[in-house]
Amino acid sequence: MKPILAFPSFSLFLVLSCLGVFAEEPFSFNKTPGKLPKTVVPHHYELSLKPKIESSSFTGSEVIEVEVLESVSEIVLNAHNLTIATAHSRSADGGGIPTTPVPTSAHWKDLAISLDVTNQCVNLRSSTAFAPGRHLIRLDFSGKISQSPVGMFLIKYKSPSGPKEMIATQFEATDARQVFPCFDEPAFRASFSLTVEVPLGVTPVSNMPVSQSVVSTETSKKVSFLKTPSMPTYLLVLVVGELDHIEGRVGGIETRVWFTEGKRNKALYALKNSERLLTYFQKYFDVPFPLPKLDHIALPGGFGGAMEHWGAITYNESTVLFDPAQNSQDTKERSFAIMAHEMAHQWFGNLVTMAWWDNLWLNEGFASWMGTKATDNLNPSWNHWLRVDTGKIGLMALDAQKSTHPIQRPVKSESQIGDSFDGITYQKGMFFIRMLEDYLGEEKFQQGLRQYMKRHAFGNTTTADLWAEMAEASQQDVARFAAGWTEQPGLPVILASTTQVGREKSVVLRQERFTLLDPNAQPLKWKVPVTIATPGSKGSLARTLLEETPVSLKLGAGNQPIKLNAGSRGYYRTAYDAPMFKQLSCSWHKFSPSDQVNFLSDAFAMVETERLSASEYLDLIPAMGKGTSLPVWEQGLAGLGLIDSLLEGNVMQRGYRSRVIALLQSVVAEIGFQSRAGDSPQLGLLRARLMGLLGGLGSQAIIDEARKRFTFYVKDPSSLTGALRPTLLRIVGQYASKEDYAELLRLARAATLEEESGMLLSAIASASNPDLANQTLSLSLAGEFSPVQSTRLVSAVSNTGRHASLAWDFMKQHHRQLMELLGGPFMNAYAGSTVAGFSDTAHATEYVEFIKANYPPDALAKAEEAADRIRYKAHLKQLISSSVESWISSSNAD
Ligand SMILES: [Zn+2]
Repeated sequence: MKPILAFPSFSLFLVLSCLGVFAEEPFSFNKTPGKLPKTVVPHHYELSLKPKIESSSFTGSEVIEVEVLESVSEIVLNAHNLTIATAHSRSADGGGIPTTPVPTSAHWKDLAISLDVTNQCVNLRSSTAFAPGRHLIRLDFSGKISQSPVGMFLIKYKSPSGPKEMIATQFEATDARQVFPCFDEPAFRASFSLTVEVPLGVTPVSNMPVSQSVVSTETSKKVSFLKTPSMPTYLLVLVVGELDHIEGRVGGIETRVWFTEGKRNKALYALKNSERLLTYFQKYFDVPFPLPKLDHIALPGGFGGAMEHWGAITYNESTVLFDPAQNSQDTKERSFAIMAHEMAHQWFGNLVTMAWWDNLWLNEGFASWMGTKATDNLNPSWNHWLRVDTGKIGLMALDAQKSTHPIQRPVKSESQIGDSFDGITYQKGMFFIRMLEDYLGEEKFQQGLRQYMKRHAFGNTTTADLWAEMAEASQQDVARFAAGWTEQPGLPVILASTTQVGREKSVVLRQERFTLLDPNAQPLKWKVPVTIATPGSKGSLARTLLEETPVSLKLGAGNQPIKLNAGSRGYYRTAYDAPMFKQLSCSWHKFSPSDQVNFLSDAFAMVETERLSASEYLDLIPAMGKGTSLPVWEQGLAGLGLIDSLLEGNVMQRGYRSRVIALLQSVVAEIGFQSRAGDSPQLGLLRARLMGLLGGLGSQAIIDEARKRFTFYVKDPSSLTGALRPTLLRIVGQYASKEDYAELLRLARAATLEEESGMLLSAIASASNPDLANQTLSLSLAGEFSPVQSTRLVSAVSNTGRHASLAWDFMKQHHRQLMELLGGPFMNAYAGSTVAGFSDTAHATEYVEFIKANYPPDALAKAEEAADRIRYKAHLKQLISSSVESWISSSNAD
């Protein structure tokens, strides 16, 4: 899954954005955590569903073939928000489910139905015990079609031929139980044969190809799909709507992209990507794609990200459709990367599934790494790894605070499962795997992964199973190396200093835990593969495994600047001593772009930990020019934007903005406001990034340009395209008059594409005028936009920092309605996003108290994380204040 909780980050103001470890055991079904008894396991579901949009409900029936492993008096399944009308059972020894439709012979025994609402279970009791062996359980049930993207849900959308409705399902992590009674835990794998009854004229799509479609009444048809391979319940999917598609083929596998009316041209890119990625992954894993077809379904709303359903991936259309004439290079790259992530899951997660949600990182960390690797490999000019690397400032700051958690952590409740879909699981998991691959070597790592896929295909695993294969391939104790990284919270900082004896230079390295605002943090150690780079060096000059004791590395004669973490492959911070930093500060721009990004990021972390002043950090920026690579600029501009956001409401902000504008305007002038023939896509993005930052900071020339282009855009939308389109619209939104705002809102209401309405809503949410901010907040409950877009408005208003209090007051008043509208597993994370604009400790405390008073104890962990983000900004604000002031006044002396 790829949840996207905030607006696409067009703005740089949105930048967050020893070893007391346990030895995990290989997968054992009986020892896997979970609520369901391990005495009964499902083998196959024969499932029929009949959605009824007009009454927002559905009916269903199923026969589950189960195996009773030891005699039991009751069978326990998951069910939530379902009405179960009847339940029957009979022995299936000597044969499985005999026919379709569901048989109703006299051999069926009545079962007593008892709902356990607290545990989201149903207990089925028989007058006699269920004997060991195969049994069939037959159930008739009904439920509600949700308005939020949970279980089976409704999507209302605008099409060129008028308003439309369709339905889709979203089961991960624990919502299959809202559509049919089932064994809704990932270790209970089974096959599924799905039949749906739908109106004539709509198309149902599911995991497998259609096996049969018959007209059942004058207005409806019954469509059956081929039996799936064995898989967990959360991967089952059904989409029903007025869908069109295009198709391609890779070897024997059919691949299609599905979309709603008028979007054919925007789907071509995704089809080509699917073909390229299928070829890539089949070769990389050396395991053929396990199903006969792979669909990509662009949903016009509904949910905010993408979901890796086996054989039928669903996307919010804004994350997958791409219009080369309109969309930016950002959209192109994001669409590819999200497809790569979801397709990596087809092997990682679907073919081999984590046993329980405490190993969610096995799905998400690996899909994030594999998706990034594939995107980078197939599109080398994008520098994709480098661009992803620029997210480390926010991630590592989060991992350095008290509320962080290990990559692997126990999860018990449904709410804790939802909380696990976070930056630690995805991004830290990804960066750790990248470091491990670098440490073991690319070939051995791949060999280990291939063995893992083959050995555990159609099965479940724990992290220990993966390390066993890696150890065999690399002949190294991978479990021991990895334990500190996946089972401990936090990360290390490597303290580096140099010594010179005669002509011989050495670098001395020692590690400590990198913490922020957590003075009592447990002092932990890691096995850190440290590498060394010099200007112009390819790869690493030297490498060592730093453990508990300090290490001294001899570097020979010479006075070259020394930088740690060559190529930024390691997940750790580096703090240089004063002489090393001084030398690097004059020469950092001579290193490779990945080392430049890493150096800027580490320099910012040295500010966070008071090892460097903000003015010393800001003095690094002038070394960047037009020729500097895009990710390096993005890293530099992110730091400038973050500092600006911390000065919100401070009299110094005006002086800071003037100096930043003065510093960068010559670069913007050189690049120009308009795209020129022969510009690379990266230069186009750099133009948008610079104009976005400077426009946000108040550059009148850029605000005027944005307004001028907006006037043309209203008359002719094709006059503003690519990366400048969201950037300039956002600047117009920020400085909007009531008339501008009304115009932006009118365009958002008229948009028939999620990407377009999202971009325009993002623009109106950035309005500086408080009356307009209040209007945006009210819009979140007006029901005009999809639940995901509507609820995001509150986070987006908070994120500006200018109206954090307005957003919070609105949230306090309407939190129940907003949470109900959002639904799904990300409610705790969402609540935190509505206070993201604060940077004072009082609000951090108030927020936690509010959650304590209004939500169950499970919500507290995520609330503490949101509070830690606020405290982090409060801490930085106080740290940088006097130093930024001296940086501003130093410009007067320039
Ligand atoms: Zn995922």
